[in-house]
Amino acid sequence: MRDKDCIFCKISAGEIPSNTIYEDEEFRVILDLAPASKGHALIIPKEHAADIYEIEEELAGRAMKLAKRMAVHMTEVLGCEGFNILQNNHEVAGQTVFHFHMHLIPRYRNAKNEDILVWNHETFSPEEMEQIRDALKQD
Ligand code: 5GP
Ligand code: ZN
Repeated sequence: MRDKDCIFCKISAGEIPSNTIYEDEEFRVILDLAPASKGHALIIPKEHAADIYEIEEELAGRAMKLAKRMAVHMTEVLGCEGFNILQNNHEVAGQTVFHFHMHLIPRYRNAKNEDILVWNHETFSPEEMEQIRDALKQD
């Protein structure tokens, strides 16, 4: 399914040009317009789903398999020293384009953006941790 107002539907369909580094029937992988590092790319499924809550489970699995292959390939070509795979859901989590995508972010020592993805820690008491664990525990 496509969303006629969605920019990533248009990009993944090839209606809006992009710097594509990989394409198959289900996915397009493009360079991010505002990269956090050299080679920062996005895996975009061609099927519209807004986020992790909407995307079909099997397709999400295939996106992760592609991320694995792209990470290996990009690391070989770019010579980066590490790699982040990031996927934002909802505005509060930093999502700005509401079509599921995965960020592929090559990491380099001494890069301008060495501290991307560094967060402050929150503290919870042991009792709070147990409550959280019990609430989240699944069989
Ligand atoms: P989000 O913040 O939703 O996780 O990530 C959206 C990403 O898409 C951002 O990193 C942003 O730079 C990138 N982006 C937004 N619009 C375009 C576009 O038209 N073309 C490309 N190549 N990247 C885009
Ligand atoms: Zn879309």
